[in-house]
Amino acid sequence: MNEILDKQLCEKYPLLFRDRNADMRTTAMCWGFSHGDGWFNIIDTLCWHLHRKYDDAKSRHDYLVSRLGKPRFGEKGVAVTQEDIDDAKVKVDEEAIKVPTVVQVKEKFGTLRFYIQAGTDEHYNYISFAESMSGCTCETCGKPGKRLGRGWIYTACEEHAEDDDWAQSLVTEEE
Ligand SMILES: [Zn+2]
Repeated sequence: MNEILDKQLCEKYPLLFRDRNADMRTTAMCWGFSHGDGWFNIIDTLCWHLHRKYDDAKSRHDYLVSRLGKPRFGEKGVAVTQEDIDDAKVKVDEEAIKVPTVVQVKEKFGTLRFYIQAGTDEHYNYISFAESMSGCTCETCGKPGKRLGRGWIYTACEEHAEDDDWAQSLVTEEE
């Protein structure tokens, strides 16, 4: 995937991609996103789900900080205290720890492979759905596509299918 999209994901989801530039002895994430640009939206949506609870806790904390000593929205007369803010910060730290670390993102046999460390069943369900979506999404442009080829399998729309019969043969379920 191109550098701009790569950077965009790492900035938007810093906890998931905390190892993006870590040493190759500890992560495969140092190689970046090894697939085409067409899967950007799938990955962006997946990451949004994996990062969401932390982002929610953080927005709540930031909101309380902005309301210190003032009443909260919808609760007339109840002012936000430092204690409320401290409690919200504890929640932010708890959620931060629960965000899994992405260790590798790549294409294999025409579909996305998204590997994490310290994931929950909920995380793996989202990943499984995203990986399935990649199997019907052109890896080059993101339009609806099919898994094609023999031996070397890839997922492409009509426009981005390789220009020969061998490479255009459809991958069937039995394969
Ligand atoms: Zn395409």
